[in-house]
Amino acid sequence: MKRTVEDIDIFEKRVLLRVDFNVPLDNSGNILDPSRILAELPTIKYLLSKNAKVIICSHLGRPKGEFNQQLSMVNIAKYLIKLLNCKIRFSPEAIGDKVKKLIDEMNFGEVLVLENIRFYKEEEENSPLFASKLAELADVYVNDAFGTAHRKHASTYEVAKLLPNAVGFLMGKEINTIVSVLDNPQRPFVAIIGGAKISDKLNIIHNLIKKCDTILIGGAMSYTFLKAQGVDIGKSVYEESCIESAKNILEDAKQIGTKVLLPIDHICASLFSPNAQAVKVKQCAIQDNLQGLDIGPKTIKMYKNEIKSANTIIWNGPMGVFEFANFAKGTYEIAKCVAKNKGKTIVGGGDSISAINKLKLNQKIYHISTGGGASLKLIAGECLPGVDVIADK
Ligand code: AMP
Repeated sequence: MKRTVEDIDIFEKRVLLRVDFNVPLDNSGNILDPSRILAELPTIKYLLSKNAKVIICSHLGRPKGEFNQQLSMVNIAKYLIKLLNCKIRFSPEAIGDKVKKLIDEMNFGEVLVLENIRFYKEEEENSPLFASKLAELADVYVNDAFGTAHRKHASTYEVAKLLPNAVGFLMGKEINTIVSVLDNPQRPFVAIIGGAKISDKLNIIHNLIKKCDTILIGGAMSYTFLKAQGVDIGKSVYEESCIESAKNILEDAKQIGTKVLLPIDHICASLFSPNAQAVKVKQCAIQDNLQGLDIGPKTIKMYKNEIKSANTIIWNGPMGVFEFANFAKGTYEIAKCVAKNKGKTIVGGGDSISAINKLKLNQKIYHISTGGGASLKLIAGECLPGVDVIADK
């Protein structure tokens, strides 16, 4: 068990709180979905109740080490003012003397929001020097950024080595819930994996075949698996460099006795466009001039049958290009079926959660995780550096 905020002395301390406020924004910087911020409030309020100086550190988007006004944390700081009953300050820098001065000037029981940590390229490089500059700002480090726990970055990993540390309530809740469901999962245990980034998810799928009874594959990644089986996939998106691994996964799954199901029909288009006309392809193989953009009705039926009889379900990644109305049906049908299931259901990943929210089914899901990649890695039994680096109780 990891040490939590309740296990360390934070009374009137300067606390560096790493959170995941990587929320979707519109072009004017308005927050489209504040779930990740709302989920963080219990930890912030607890630290404030202990009269700590709460120094909030997060990334927002992918600025790749450069300043980008649209991705400034100033919008998040403004949003926090509406939620918290204390003074909230914003620092246009995340390290350095000006930040230290702001921290000296603030009163205990107040919040300081640091500028986007990914404006500094040293963050993703996990730079020890950069981490030491962050550590200079605080007496205690608390990591509550579950969504980034699988990353070994300066503010999620290296800095933890330099200060007394603990996990926050959100991190604790995510880990305890996911681990308790998966420790001894009620069977059948079904994983539904979709989306496009197969290279990110291949290792995870390889580990999942040892844990699940059935894996349902959808989205663009299914075409790499189909191609690995020698099926014609037309112009569908796939990753050549992942074909061998996909073959190995299918082979290993067969040996272990885990079912890995792939689409048996598709909704295709001749071009990738929101207005593209949907073409039903009633069989597994896709003609040369078409690309698969959603799973077809036979696949939906087959996947729903597996989901209905499951007692534990994890779902990460859309079944198709659900952003385009003509290719959203597979994802929404799967969302509805998962929500109907009375077993333990865990949904992670921005797109799957967005489908669940759009259908207003969030109350019907056992656990909606704030971390897509992190929850998948935890489920697959892989290590989360941001958690491992925190001291045990
Ligand atoms: P990921 O971040 O890996 O979960 O991928 C999510 C993205 O995959 C979404 O933006 C989907 O539009 C995209 N996607 C899903 N299915 C397909 C497909 N068949 N072809 C191209 N992109 C897809």
